[in-house]
Amino acid sequence: MSMLAAAVLATARAMNTAGINRGTAGNVSARCDDGFIITPTGMAYDDCTAADMVKVGIGGTPPKVGAGGTAQPEYANSGTALGKRKPSSEWRFHHDIYAARPEAGAIIHAHAPFATALACQQLEIPPFHYMIARFGGATVRCAAYATFGTQALSDAMLVAMQDRCACLMAHHGMVVFGGDLKEALALTIEFEALCEQYWRVLQLGQPKLLSADEMARVSAKFMDYGRQ
Ligand code: 13P
Ligand code: ZN
Repeated sequence: MSMLAAAVLATARAMNTAGINRGTAGNVSARCDDGFIITPTGMAYDDCTAADMVKVGIGGTPPKVGAGGTAQPEYANSGTALGKRKPSSEWRFHHDIYAARPEAGAIIHAHAPFATALACQQLEIPPFHYMIARFGGATVRCAAYATFGTQALSDAMLVAMQDRCACLMAHHGMVVFGGDLKEALALTIEFEALCEQYWRVLQLGQPKLLSADEMARVSAKFMDYGRQ
């Protein structure tokens, strides 16, 4: 477990080093046996150790509501090294993606500069480039705005992520999942590159788009792309 916690932290640091996130914005998690390990809320990744990562349970029991009326995740390891910090304020959407999407092994949420610029204009990304299909369809949707850390944000995001492994989040940022942390980070970097390309194309006028037929062909090719 602590190896997975160390890998979650290393991925959070790597996303900042890659310039796709800054400061304590964003969060990273990875699925484990009966839940997931997630970065703590509001802590600089460089100041964290693996023991600051937090385990949150997934399962039949909904998150507990504490005395103050605030929903609390289940701290499966309460009192141990992996339970002493508060989880990311976005633990709900990490939880709900793992529960709804069995193929998700790791999730990255970032306030990536180009993705966030598009998201602040509430833009859906159309098929201006074939790589859009890498994220599951002919478009990348933008989830409706909701306050950070709320169930409403999680609900809006799950709708935008239907049949997709990424979406923009209006006036906020982006989220991507992959089979594991390595894949999630690679997809996040590709996603931000695509957002930058789309931003540049928008400067040139009305983007020209690929057809639905071509996007379906590319999606089929991505099913086994990169398998050696
Ligand atoms: P946390 O520090 O709680 O993970 O919040 C960062 C963030 O991006 C909220 O949307
Ligand atoms: Zn955020």
